[in-house]
Amino acid sequence: MNTQSANLKTLHCPCGNSKQYSDCCGRYLDQGEVAVTAEHLMRSRYTAYTLNREDYLLATWHHSTRPTSLGLASQPPNQWSGLTVKRHEQSAPDRAIVEFVARYKINGRAHRLHEISRFVREDESWFYVDGDIP
Ligand SMILES: [Zn+2]
Repeated sequence: MNTQSANLKTLHCPCGNSKQYSDCCGRYLDQGEVAVTAEHLMRSRYTAYTLNREDYLLATWHHSTRPTSLGLASQPPNQWSGLTVKRHEQSAPDRAIVEFVARYKINGRAHRLHEISRFVREDESWFYVDGDIP
């Protein structure tokens, strides 16, 4: 466990749930549990961005669209300030979309990312495929 996630032990999870990190996304990021829904995976990936956990982001990215690197280690982390999940639709046992708004700051200026992400499930694990900006 890195120091950033250790510091989160007593706080609410970055994904916006009222649970502690260790009972929410930490189960996936630190304990290797498999997310049972695409929404759980999406929330854990948002949390991974807040912690610069590139290893987790790449591991949960579908092999067909996965970049070789995100370069997060060489960048100052974005200041992520919140996540709202607007929609989760599972159209088939192995296909789902999650629509969300993520808020962050760059140099003190607020930005928002609104995306409809596609997920597929393979061998019981959900993977992020790609997303559209509506
Ligand atoms: Zn969480």
